[in-house]
Amino acid sequence: MKLCELKPGQSARVLAVGGEGALRQHFLDMGVIPGAELSLVKLAPMGDPMELRIHGYELTLRLADAEKIRVELLESARIDEKGSSARKPSDHPGLGEEGKFHPKGTGDPLPEGTELSFALVGNQNSGKTTLFNQLTGSNQHVGNFPGVTVDRKDGVIRGHRDTSITDLPGIYSMSPYSSEELVSRDFVLHSKPKAIINIVDATNIERNLYLTMQLLEMDLPMVVALNMMDELTGNGGTVDVNAMEAMLGVPVVPISAAKDQGVDELVRHALHIARYQERPLRQDFCSADEHGGAVHRALHAVGHLIEDHAARAELPLRFAASKLLEGDSLISEQLRLDQNEKEMLEHIVLQMENERGLDRGAAMAEMRFAYIEKVCGRCVVKPHESREHRRSRKIDRVLTGRYTAIPMFIAIMALVFFLTFFLIGPVLQDLLARGIADLGGLTERAMQAGGVNPAIQSLVLDGIFQGVGSVVSFLPLIVILFLFLSLLEDSGYIARVAFVMDKLLRKIGLSGRSIVPMLIGFGCTVPAVMSTRTLPSDRDRRMTILLTPFMSCTAKLPIYSFFVAAFFPRRGWLIITGLYVLGILAGVLAALLYKKTLFRGEAVPFVMELPNYRLPSARNVLQLLWEKAKDFLQRAFSVILIATIVVWFLQSFSFRFDLVTDSRDSILARLAGLLAPLFRPVGLGDWRIVTSLISGFMAKESVVSVMKILFAGQSLTAALGTLTAASLLVFSLLYTPCVAAIASIRRELGGKWALYVVLWQCVLAWFAALAVRLVGMLLGWG
Ligand code: GDP
Ligand code: MG
Repeated sequence: MKLCELKPGQSARVLAVGGEGALRQHFLDMGVIPGAELSLVKLAPMGDPMELRIHGYELTLRLADAEKIRVELLESARIDEKGSSARKPSDHPGLGEEGKFHPKGTGDPLPEGTELSFALVGNQNSGKTTLFNQLTGSNQHVGNFPGVTVDRKDGVIRGHRDTSITDLPGIYSMSPYSSEELVSRDFVLHSKPKAIINIVDATNIERNLYLTMQLLEMDLPMVVALNMMDELTGNGGTVDVNAMEAMLGVPVVPISAAKDQGVDELVRHALHIARYQERPLRQDFCSADEHGGAVHRALHAVGHLIEDHAARAELPLRFAASKLLEGDSLISEQLRLDQNEKEMLEHIVLQMENERGLDRGAAMAEMRFAYIEKVCGRCVVKPHESREHRRSRKIDRVLTGRYTAIPMFIAIMALVFFLTFFLIGPVLQDLLARGIADLGGLTERAMQAGGVNPAIQSLVLDGIFQGVGSVVSFLPLIVILFLFLSLLEDSGYIARVAFVMDKLLRKIGLSGRSIVPMLIGFGCTVPAVMSTRTLPSDRDRRMTILLTPFMSCTAKLPIYSFFVAAFFPRRGWLIITGLYVLGILAGVLAALLYKKTLFRGEAVPFVMELPNYRLPSARNVLQLLWEKAKDFLQRAFSVILIATIVVWFLQSFSFRFDLVTDSRDSILARLAGLLAPLFRPVGLGDWRIVTSLISGFMAKESVVSVMKILFAGQSLTAALGTLTAASLLVFSLLYTPCVAAIASIRRELGGKWALYVVLWQCVLAWFAALAVRLVGMLLGWG
């Protein structure tokens, strides 16, 4: 039968994994291999995707993908948690007993003063961020990997100034499946760190060791940090660390990153293996007496075949051989095999596939998992079912339950929004705004006392304090929103949201994960764009960023309420709601368009782990908030400062470079006058409207205030008319996001895309406003 036909609660054994290419490799890497046993936990509330339990962890899978996997039903209801026999734990021997891998006093350490660079590699949710923060303290800086928008964090290990450590993106294997995996793989292959710190989640050890096996092939000094030991031992499990070291051939240090246990020892080991360049003792995990040794012979044959090529391409031999056998085309290119060798390779693969009865990808994955099972059987005493997992199941009964999931999701998001934008945010925002205003007042008095040139005064007060001040006053909102989001993310809830919403978002060409940035977009586009960093593929990230401006941000609310109060006092709520819905509809249409044009192809397949719910560590959360705040402020004082000064200049000077007294004479007004004909067809041709819309580019809130100044003394209702107000509302809903948002888009996607967003949103808004006007005229309004 097919996997998609399995009923909740039923268990099955995988017979064959269909499909092809990277997606299939990803299944295999996640442990969905022939022979693996799994059970179906539940279906998402909308019936798709499914949640599976396999190798002791929870995995999500879309039904369409599950259709390609053939399984046979197992009789026993639960296949899991076969806790192995009790074994007495032995103490860990300290720093490899001053060289368990390396007799004391021998060896050839790197010269004193060499920088010891480490790569921190591990699965997602294995505690990488927590460990990185423990290792580095505040000694870190955040950036991008060159050429891609994948977060990169570098730091220095506390107390060891001659070290550097790079936090690589969380990955599950060294296949080039996502940009994260490629980045990590290239980093390890080409940047040649002096050693790898591989972090392994001890409560989910089978799947985590799969990456370890591939890292060992990199032939770099490596130490395994066995994390979450507190959870494992707390539930009656243990790991025989010495036996595991012997089987893996690298030091294994049990730690708890969250509780700061064992981290010092980990550092000692890491420094030791890096300084003495101790490579893994073994990389060869295939065995001659398993399934006739087909994989074993094939691997070694390929190894001999490509030995010289691998050396020339500076690739680790064993890694290159495994990847060739799996059919990795990137590695195959780098090796530059000639025709003859390629044919020999294909023969070897064919022979292996015939003898083993599995195709190349599955055979390799199976070989690795077979060894992992051996390691776990010998070294790991599994807890029966951890408290954390039981708790997770209970929570999930509500949060991903069939009838409760969506109401709970709405309730949680509503609560977050309420707290951020109505309860806590405005208070802090007010305080900050008042602080800035006071500072402005102080500066004003100081400048007046000092007799500073009035133009400079105006620049400082009307330009910098107004402009940058209004942007900086967003800081509390952003920090609070990120506080809640990082709590949700770190606790494991966001993964569930993606699971619940996937079916809906798939219809517009995205995956469930994009729901969160879009929701934040209703608050503020800036953090929304920043939060797309968590999305797993570049395509999804881009498309999501381009869609966030359609979600009407809170800064537009003043515009809506002002005009609705003035023009449509009786149907106010209806119209505001209508505007929000219109924004979403426009976003959906745009998404469908993108799906057909710019972003053809599928959203990332939804093969995702659902980690246990965990209490986020305060340290991680604070660190993240600090990063975001710093990031935001840096931007406020660079891009936004410059933009503010430019706009101030245009607003305050006439073309003869005199300070203007009548706002009508300013360069901005003149320019607005030039642009006015463009806006005439949609009924917004008045230069004052155009000016206020342009000022809305600085901050949407200012649309209303500028309009009030420019229309001073006139009745807006008389001056504009209902139809103009309607067009204006729709135009403000859709036209370009503010500079702060554009600056963050630029940071994520580059200048070209930022410009594209500005133009595209304006064009869209223009046509939408035109449509409103035409319909309105047909209906005989205004
Ligand atoms: P990453 O995705 O690999 O960066 O993982 P994080 O560092 O974000 O950790 C994921 C979750 O596991 C967070 O909620 C952490 O608080 C938690 N965590 C990390 N290390 C430990 C640990 O040693 N023990 C326990 N119990 N929880 C941990
Ligand atoms: Mg992390």
